Amino acid sequence: MEDFRCTNSILSKSKTPTDGLISKTWIEQKNVEDSVEKCYSFFKNLLDIESDVAQFLSKCQDPDGGFSGGPGQKPHLAPTYAAVNALCILGTDEAFNVIDRASLQRFLLSMHQPDGSFTMHLGGEVDIRGTYCAASAARLTNITTKDMFDGTAEWIVRCQTYEGGFGGIPGMEAHGGYAFCALAALVLIDRVHLCDIKGLLMSYEGGFQGRTNKLVDGCYSFWQGGSFPLVHMILTKQGEDFVSAERWLFHQEALQEYIMICCQHPHGGLLDKPGKPRDFYHTCYCLSGLSVAQHFSEGRLSQEYILGSATNQLNMLHPVFNISIEAVQLAQNYFSRADVSSGETSCNGPKK
Ligand SMILES: [Zn+2]
Repeated sequence: MEDFRCTNSILSKSKTPTDGLISKTWIEQKNVEDSVEKCYSFFKNLLDIESDVAQFLSKCQDPDGGFSGGPGQKPHLAPTYAAVNALCILGTDEAFNVIDRASLQRFLLSMHQPDGSFTMHLGGEVDIRGTYCAASAARLTNITTKDMFDGTAEWIVRCQTYEGGFGGIPGMEAHGGYAFCALAALVLIDRVHLCDIKGLLMSYEGGFQGRTNKLVDGCYSFWQGGSFPLVHMILTKQGEDFVSAERWLFHQEALQEYIMICCQHPHGGLLDKPGKPRDFYHTCYCLSGLSVAQHFSEGRLSQEYILGSATNQLNMLHPVFNISIEAVQLAQNYFSRADVSSGETSCNGPKK
């Protein structure tokens, strides 16, 4: 909320430059900007966005566990992942307490199939997104059980194709979104050694398209770009000497150029490629990819590559969860103090 362009103190200095000449247009422009600021300041004090979002998400939680896309709908792993992430981004006690961890744990266990895969919802399709969504929600809220991911790593590895990427299920065509889900899920359940990491690296073709022979798309800035910090971490752990101590294994400035020049809508928001409409999905994943391209971090080494003005700089992301590092630490600290197996009402948060 504090980062709206019209209230950003750094930007306000460069607002409505006069070049030494006060014109009628300049005065009109300044009047418009001043009234936008006044409206924003007035409404800002009336809204409590954090609490409103937490309350709305509490209505999307199913009494039997998990979250649905809207109140009264069936729980599903994708909105469960999104809701848990959103509540952890809010990071308030109210937001954390929305998550009923005992029923969430039951929901995740009920989606787990005998072959290690996860269905997206009760009676629904199996695909590799489910394994990532389940692993991410379980790890963030500290509700992983000994058998929750039995056979899952072995099932994920069966989804790796001859191209080195991963398909949605075994035998399916490789795709950037599925590759990220596979790799991040393997990191979350600590079984990355089972996949062919060099084969995966070979499958990147220069641009960030979703699949071989498809066009570039802004959202793959994260699905493909976000895989690089994971690949880097794995290869560094394996002692590979070709990984850099300063950069990811892709052209970080080129990706920033594509996102900022080609994927921004003139009226705000981001998109797939020029000519396509803006939407929340592409806005989220273009920005996530931009953050990955701006920040290199491996152990104690870190380096920033901010293309253009310093005001372009975004917060650094945790590449596995796709929320800020601070939000991950806050959530994991919060939920590490709460015991989900005790059956007490404290399943909703740590004891005070
Ligand atoms: Zn897209």
